[in-house]
Amino acid sequence: MLPGESPTEHKGQPGLVSAALSGLCPRCGSKTLFVAPAALADECSACGLEIVSLERGGRFVGVVTMLLALALILAALGVDEWLRLPLWMSLLIWAPLTVVAVIGGLRFYKTMWVYHQYEESRP
Ligand SMILES: [Zn+2]
Repeated sequence: MLPGESPTEHKGQPGLVSAALSGLCPRCGSKTLFVAPAALADECSACGLEIVSLERGGRFVGVVTMLLALALILAALGVDEWLRLPLWMSLLIWAPLTVVAVIGGLRFYKTMWVYHQYEESRP
């Protein structure tokens, strides 16, 4: 706990969206959850919480990625049918959108999982 910081009581689920966006540690709230845009840290560098042990069992990450990719491909095909965009324009739109959606989806999924595991692991 940093000086001047008020202890935050987590009643139920904390703001998962903001936690996923900033990668907040479930124990101390530091921005230490992710080392890369979609890769969890092994442990929190601020409080030492073992994030890697909380991640155990989060095996649906591959499925989530595939579902996201599938949804995006279907959306891309639908938009293509509808607007008949030139290929370069489709690429320009869908390439960054896919990256953002997959990273965002993974971040949200992993954060949700770690927070869930953290809640479960507490006495
Ligand atoms: Zn921490």
